[in-house]
Amino acid sequence: MALISLRDVVKEYPSSARNGVAVRAVDGVSLDIQAGDIYGMIGYSGAGKSTLVRLVNALEPATSGVIEVDGVNLVGLPERDLRPIRSGIGMIFQQFNLFNSRTVAGNVAYPLRVAKWEKAAREKRVAELLDFVGLADKAGNYPDQLSGGQKQRVGIARALATQPRILLADEATSALDPQTTSDVLALLQKVNRELGVTIIVITHEMDVIKSIATHVAVMESGRVVERGEVFDVFSNP
Ligand code: ADP
Ligand code: ADP
Repeated sequence: MALISLRDVVKEYPSSARNGVAVRAVDGVSLDIQAGDIYGMIGYSGAGKSTLVRLVNALEPATSGVIEVDGVNLVGLPERDLRPIRSGIGMIFQQFNLFNSRTVAGNVAYPLRVAKWEKAAREKRVAELLDFVGLADKAGNYPDQLSGGQKQRVGIARALATQPRILLADEATSALDPQTTSDVLALLQKVNRELGVTIIVITHEMDVIKSIATHVAVMESGRVVERGEVFDVFSNP
């Protein structure tokens, strides 16, 4: 059984003041993501990638269709049942979304505070995570003292804090230079390989998909127009 399974998923945003027409950001998407995949989602800006990911993360409700995570259909579930599903999914972002007023350790500890971990367990977990992402010596630094690549490492450590099975990366390397991008992608591969975390990588950059994804879906105007193993979709004869 697929870890994430989408069937005929539609997301419509109500009409805007602009033209009175509803926007179909996701227009009938079906796809399966297996546990252990690094699944790339590629497409131009406005294709519907971020919307699709917000649906999988249960941050927004779908208009119709079926979205199963680990066999549970999220569509129509009440908020109280969505919370545990959300906590099994980590997320990283293009602009990192770190708290500037908290240290590196404070940022990584944040989801553990929310989950009410006790101080000793929290400190142990934070140290372990910072070690894993190679930032053990930056625990007491603030985000504005870090490079972009280091900030994204903090983002990854924070996203992994509560041991999610799924990590969603939304344009996570789009603000980084090429060398830093490959370092961060190598870290994501380590997360996949060593922790067994299934990763969905949203990007508009073909090179990102080619360098780490096992599978890819190409999105255009809310639809998946091509999909398959990366080698089959992108191999040039
Ligand atoms: P991508 O991530 O591929 O750039 P998005 O999912 O952000 O694409 O956007 C897909 C479409 O949905 C676009 O036409 C966008 O303008 C529209 N859209 C996204 N979010 C909203 C929203 N909250 N309200 C209305 N329209 C939205
Ligand atoms: P806050 O003021 O929000 O607690 P801190 O930055 O002081 O933010 O600490 C956040 C969390 O990280 C706390 O649980 C703290 O015990 C832990 N922490 C602080 N420094 C370190 C460190 N060097 N290694 C591991 N954990 C740390």
